[in-house]
Amino acid sequence: MVKSAVKVIVRTRPTANFAQGYLDVKDGIRAININLPKKNETQNVVNNQRESYSFKFDNVLHNSSQETVFEECGREVISSFIDGYNGTIMAYGQTGAGKTFTMTGTTANYKQRGIIPRCIEHIFQEISNKPEKAFNVSVTYLEIYNENLFDLLNNDPTGSDDYQIMEDAKGVTFVRGIQKVATTSEEEALSLMFEGEANRAICEHQMNKASTRSHCVFTIHLESRSRVESNGQIVYSKLNLVDLAGSERVGKTHSSGQVLKEATYINKSLSFLEQVVIALSTPSREHVPYRQSKLTMFLKDSLGGNCKTLLVANIWGEATQLDETVSTLKFASRMMRVSNEATINIHMNPEALIKKYEKQIVELKQELAM
Ligand code: ADP
Ligand code: MG
Repeated sequence: MVKSAVKVIVRTRPTANFAQGYLDVKDGIRAININLPKKNETQNVVNNQRESYSFKFDNVLHNSSQETVFEECGREVISSFIDGYNGTIMAYGQTGAGKTFTMTGTTANYKQRGIIPRCIEHIFQEISNKPEKAFNVSVTYLEIYNENLFDLLNNDPTGSDDYQIMEDAKGVTFVRGIQKVATTSEEEALSLMFEGEANRAICEHQMNKASTRSHCVFTIHLESRSRVESNGQIVYSKLNLVDLAGSERVGKTHSSGQVLKEATYINKSLSFLEQVVIALSTPSREHVPYRQSKLTMFLKDSLGGNCKTLLVANIWGEATQLDETVSTLKFASRMMRVSNEATINIHMNPEALIKKYEKQIVELKQELAM
């Protein structure tokens, strides 16, 4: 068992209007300081007071390339994923801060591809370097929107009550009913990612959804067994790559009617996520309210469970966005106090188990006959 804290990395989106003098952030320097002018309660009162915040993270990537972000965020998680540990990489932040750019990237420019395509590439590379093992790779693509689950690899991705978030005997969560598609190459896995995105866009249009309000999870599932030893062991792991809904607060968007309902939902599911993180970051950890939302049920093993988890907090360093930046960094620094206990997920192949027990029975019978 490996006990490890959730790793938190802050990534800034490049901007020409950087909040100079208010936001102090440098590439590779782990601390971020923010100095906000204190809000004037009364008009016409000169107020020189400042509100100051100081945060420290595992790393800060300021104006970094997609490659650097992958090296910092993906590499380590992938190599333990191949060894049989579950992994989760999730992007958190306000709409426009660069979550989708970080996770998926832009398709037009190969250099600008994000964490998901790079993970796919490296996973297939790494497994081809291990001829002593047989691997099966499959993927699922889930969208959570207004507490409904959508299968983005299904051609008709309308929400279904048939999909259910469950957990196995070892506390590993999975979605019952969702299509798990087997892939044998980087190209196949990538085309599934594109297919899911196209379905998401079509469904968004048909159902009048706003993509900024949904959570998307591309999961890579891995099964491996030894080709050398016939010990009957199968090692399972999954890698969740999560593009969370925009974390902005409702008040700011002046929403009403249907949109307000959606906005409140998002706020609800992200505030439930926050409640889980708060519960996990307090030493007593008495009751962790995972069951309050689909998102927290799904992320149960990623937060405080059997998983190696990394959060990318995306921020948009403009003066007009400082309030959202503070709220993103507050969430991110709470996340630093969450710790997980990851184990390699070894199961026995049923056939091998039967053979093992048959052999034991024969041995016992022989002993009895003696
Ligand atoms: P979010 O998913 O958080 O709403 P996006 O990823 O869609 O934000 O980013 C908003 C816009 O900013 C997009 O046009 C995206 O290409 C651009 N962008 C975000 N981060 C970066 C970055 N690090 N480098 C270049 N462009 C970026
Ligand atoms: Mg997005």
